[in-house]
Amino acid sequence: MILEIFNVTKNIVTTKLSDLCGNVTCINIEEGLIFVDAGLLVNEVKKFKQAMEKKFDKKTIFLILTHNHPDHIFGMKSFLNVPIIATNACKIIIEEKLDTDFTSEGLKQFSEQYLQNMEFFKYMGIKEQEVNEVAKFVDVEIKAPLIGFKDELILGNENEKIIIKHSGGHSLDSATIYMPSEEVLITGDEFYHSLVPLLGGLPESYENWFTALKNWENLSVKQVIPGHGSPIDYDYVSKARQFVENMFDALNELKEKNVDEEDILEDERLRNYYGKSNWKDDQWWKGNIKALYKRLKNEK
Ligand SMILES: [Zn+2]
Repeated sequence: MILEIFNVTKNIVTTKLSDLCGNVTCINIEEGLIFVDAGLLVNEVKKFKQAMEKKFDKKTIFLILTHNHPDHIFGMKSFLNVPIIATNACKIIIEEKLDTDFTSEGLKQFSEQYLQNMEFFKYMGIKEQEVNEVAKFVDVEIKAPLIGFKDELILGNENEKIIIKHSGGHSLDSATIYMPSEEVLITGDEFYHSLVPLLGGLPESYENWFTALKNWENLSVKQVIPGHGSPIDYDYVSKARQFVENMFDALNELKEKNVDEEDILEDERLRNYYGKSNWKDDQWWKGNIKALYKRLKNEK
């Protein structure tokens, strides 16, 4: 697998292993290196970590996890000797899953699930060989975070603050990371697949998700590192947020009018998709809009 490296700023480097794996990001601060997320491929992540330690000539001091999903944490083996930081919610979920989903039996089931989704992954443009490699979960070893926090945790000194916030949209335990001095936002899966928002399943809490997206507007951000996919300009993310917001407004209105699920895509506001989808066609986002509509309809 090719390790694609992006030098986002002088002090922030991220890597995109595959669309299947969450991005792994390295932040260089005075005291050492802080990584955000551990991806999915143990050996590739280890190589990235070693390369960064060499590049900056520093040791790794923390691993921050944005949330508990396997594609962001399964690659953590080379980080087991540093303190791991996550939201309290994420810490609790991982602690619980160590006895269930993350046992060797649980990992086997994950592996089967990945392989069962082959058609879907192919549709996303991911090669069969890549899915097969990822689904082996070679050397996966998981440890629960040592440090938890409720709403916010700040690392680094005054000039190089790293602000970790519990956002809880994509998954209830989700966190986002902001570094004002670098004007970089690391979104975890609150925003992912860089060019295609809202695609890849609905957020667990779209209230929290909207709040997170809205709060980003108050930050001074130039570059965004999404949960998956290449880093992207904030302008694009801002447009995506507007699109998603308008879409929700439109869907709520259609819901009030009790419009049939099959007819909602006729609405101009939903068809006005600004994105440059890297999916093969737009069936995927249409499917998600329909799923979202169904969910809104099921709410009181
Ligand atoms: Zn996720």
